[in-house]
Amino acid sequence: MSNHFETDAIRLQTERSQFSEHSAPLYLTSSFVFEDAEDMRASFAEEKQRNLYSRFSNPNNSEFVNKMIALEGAEDGYAFATGMSAIFSTFGALLSAGDHIVSCRSVFGSTHSLFTKYLPKWNIETSYFKANEAESLESLIQDNTKILYVETPTNPGVDVLDLEVLGKIAKKHNILFVVDNCFATPYLQNPIQFGADLVVHSATKLIDGQGRVLGGVVLGKKELIREIYLFSRNTGPALSPFNAWVLSKSLETLAVRVDRHCENALKLAQLLETHENVNLVKYPFLKSHPKYVIAKKQMKQGGNIVVFEVKGGLEAGRKFLNKIKMCSLSANLGDTRTIVTHPASTTHSKLSEEDRLEVGITDGLIRVSVGLENIKDIINDINQALDSNMKKV
Ligand SMILES: *Cc1c(COP(=O)(O)O)cnc(C)c1O
Repeated sequence: MSNHFETDAIRLQTERSQFSEHSAPLYLTSSFVFEDAEDMRASFAEEKQRNLYSRFSNPNNSEFVNKMIALEGAEDGYAFATGMSAIFSTFGALLSAGDHIVSCRSVFGSTHSLFTKYLPKWNIETSYFKANEAESLESLIQDNTKILYVETPTNPGVDVLDLEVLGKIAKKHNILFVVDNCFATPYLQNPIQFGADLVVHSATKLIDGQGRVLGGVVLGKKELIREIYLFSRNTGPALSPFNAWVLSKSLETLAVRVDRHCENALKLAQLLETHENVNLVKYPFLKSHPKYVIAKKQMKQGGNIVVFEVKGGLEAGRKFLNKIKMCSLSANLGDTRTIVTHPASTTHSKLSEEDRLEVGITDGLIRVSVGLENIKDIINDINQALDSNMKKV
């Protein structure tokens, strides 16, 4: 380990095979062979550290996880098929019937469904605080509260939560602090520094960064990861070795990609702030962001998600999307390609207006996942959609 992000992301590599390959080989194998009965016995007894079966471990998965451990400053980690399987396995491994979670209203949609639809089946309830009222969270902690679970910046409102303050509250009440660090990546923010016990990622987003594979990872304290590993080894949401190989390659370019994503996003956010057809722009590194000071404290740069509100509400939001020419209309984010979405008429259309407003989704809100195209082309496309929109409003 070099303790330099870029170097570790490139150089922490699985040992070379007999062929002395430079780029890591792909171990597309479901199982591994043993020398003899004693080797097999000792391996299953965990007296030896070795690969047995790819549902448990695989050299490609280990390479990806070892890099992520170094980049997040964690003790240990385990990789999953998707971000959601990483999140579900964390709850499955660490919670028991009757336990309680405190979380923020603005969490990823499927995580919210775990809280509202599935965990209650095992008598695990969740209480929520609002992203801009984090001070109310202490009053939600009960005797049976086991986990404080948050995302920052949040989706899609890009609200910022103060990790240091939350970490101290979790510690004071002796509850586990779990942070979904997907929007920031380990390059921009390391929640463990601020007291997180576990960090989860959807590797599908900026970590792959090229819209190719799904993946997830959980990183943090060794004894917690051990429980999560055992849960996964028995329930089976393992990351495919092929996807692990792709993701490990992706990490090699994460720093330079995220630098450019953030540079483009800041330029777009600054321009939108001056646009006459835009009501509100939110980006963590804009001085006008309500939590700008906190964002500066805990993030290296502002990330690649910019949200803004087109004047004219729901219909104007839909029209804006129809006028977009180059950017993609897609549900993914953190891709090389710039992606625009209109949450009120798509991902969050099933919520009531009141519930939408509670998570910061106004009718005209547009979420832009700013990509790596030339910034002039991104700005031109968004400008022309805003301008033609205006004529019709
Ligand atoms: C996409 C996403 C997830 C889920 O990840 P998948 O890889 O799609 O399962 C979880 N949290 C956040 C913040 C996300 O953006």
